[in-house]
Amino acid sequence: MKILIVEDEPALLNSLASYLRQDGYVVETAADYARAHEKIKLYQYDCVLLDLTLPDGNGLDLLRALKADNSAAGVLIVSARDALDDKVRGLELGADDYLAKPFHLSELSARLKAIIRRRNFQGSAQLVFQELTVIPDQAQVLVKGEPVALTRKEYDLLLYLLAHPGRVLTKESIAEHVWGDAADAADSFDFIYTHLKNLRKKLQEKGAGDYIRTVYGMGYKLSSEQ
Ligand code: CA
Repeated sequence: MKILIVEDEPALLNSLASYLRQDGYVVETAADYARAHEKIKLYQYDCVLLDLTLPDGNGLDLLRALKADNSAAGVLIVSARDALDDKVRGLELGADDYLAKPFHLSELSARLKAIIRRRNFQGSAQLVFQELTVIPDQAQVLVKGEPVALTRKEYDLLLYLLAHPGRVLTKESIAEHVWGDAADAADSFDFIYTHLKNLRKKLQEKGAGDYIRTVYGMGYKLSSEQ
């Protein structure tokens, strides 16, 4: 899952970024409005943590821009401005949640998980596809009830495919989602193939069918159809 943190306080930005990376997220950061605006125009995120008071603009305008683009990203406003009208305005504009500073990182984490669960997994705590089960809150993968040990990237790949069953995911979108925004500048996306090969092998060794299909010239999709 890829998160964009928009925050102009360097210490807070760093602590949020390292905390969420430890939690397993792919984390991108923007320390001002201009950078954040550039990023949301170029890249897709699962959730944006949005500070409202930025040196060169208002976070609510970034929220408006996301909504105008029909972005699928969740938005969690994280702001020192605990004014009721800011909160109401943010929620009216389509933010998913609002957290006032200061806050505990554990609360941020719980709210973030709730947003992602609601938006990507229809509110469910686990994703099931044929004999595969993924429990995102615990980063756990089961095949026929038995746990499978995956690397972080293998897990992220599987979760991305499971969140979009039957849909063709391009190599560019997979690279960007699992490796971060800078991956779109890669010369080749062969590294995806290597990780997918290992993932398929590990799942099949535990008795899962082979559901990750190559769509020639386009990318990959998760499908139970031959
Ligand atoms: Ca600020």
